[in-house]
Amino acid sequence: MFPAAFDYHAPASLGEALALLKERGDDAKVMAGGQSLIPLLKLRLAQPALVVDIGRLPALASVTRHDGSVRIGALVRHVDVERSPELASLCPLMVEASHWIADPLVRNRGTVVGSVCHADPAGDWGAVILALGAEIVARSESRERVIQAEGFFQGPFSTELKADEVVTELRIPLPTGHAGGAYLKLERKVGDFATVAVAVQLALDGRKVAKVGIGLTAVGATSIKATAAERALVGQEPTAEVIAEAAGLAAAAAEPRDDMRGSVAYKRDMVRVFVQRGLRTALGRAEGVRS
Ligand SMILES: Cc1cc2nc3c(=O)[nH]c(=O)nc-3n(C[C@H](O)[C@H](O)[C@H](O)COP(=O)(O)OP(=O)(O)OC[C@H]3O[C@@H](n4cnc5c(N)ncnc54)[C@H](O)[C@@H]3O)c2cc1C
Repeated sequence: MFPAAFDYHAPASLGEALALLKERGDDAKVMAGGQSLIPLLKLRLAQPALVVDIGRLPALASVTRHDGSVRIGALVRHVDVERSPELASLCPLMVEASHWIADPLVRNRGTVVGSVCHADPAGDWGAVILALGAEIVARSESRERVIQAEGFFQGPFSTELKADEVVTELRIPLPTGHAGGAYLKLERKVGDFATVAVAVQLALDGRKVAKVGIGLTAVGATSIKATAAERALVGQEPTAEVIAEAAGLAAAAAEPRDDMRGSVAYKRDMVRVFVQRGLRTALGRAEGVRS
């Protein structure tokens, strides 16, 4: 199908993009890699009067390290994360998750920030940024604001963002000390969206869990932060019983739906199994055991 007619602008500066969005916000759509927006245009599920293509703003294409965080610019593509030796050492969870996204064609064009803004409840980055406690930096002509990942997703394909805002970067707090993460995804075939996916990031203080983030994908109207499970782990020695209890709490937090990928009971049980496995893998990595 062909998209409805729209105007197209590819601004040469962020200022120009923000001015256009201020003027035309409700009628306009930002485009980064176009890997989700273009299919939506073609299906006429999105019919903006104006597409503002930010793809020619190279200043947004970098990964930089800053004050204990790593900043992922709005034009950093999935493939850039996948191939980044810097991220492999600073935040391996991101690199592990990037391998699971779609196929090389989509990973070559699509951006991490675009995925987060698209807010597909089955998107892989949603769980990852919740587990990592990321911040989303949004700019409009009049201000810049920093939004916590928890609370960013409002519903399927719906976020905290206003029509005149562009996300310029994600800020990911860098794991420190004895830290480890894991991304587990159940898919029907290679490159498919998740049936269930789980992201775990934890840090140890001696034998106890000092910090943990658990994000779930494809089991609710948004990606879900499993806060009760996180609380059950912090300050505890991660014994098999503690891990099993946390996994049960994560499964209870999931709100899956019956669909062609599986029943509610099956998906909930897969959350339980994957959180258990994810925690064990992340623990092994935090303890320096390769897995
Ligand atoms: C065949 C196929 C398979 C896929 N499989 C997977 C998969 O397995 N896992 C997965 O997670 N995803 C998958 N996707 C989705 C895809 O990876 C992402 O949604 C896509 O990469 C989004 O990034 P983009 O830069 O292409 O965003 P675009 O398509 O350009 O934009 C997507 C949305 O985000 C908004 N947006 C983009 N950038 C910004 C910004 N900086 N500020 C404000 N708003 C912005 C746009 O307005 C639009 O609403 C798949 C897509 C396809 C086509």
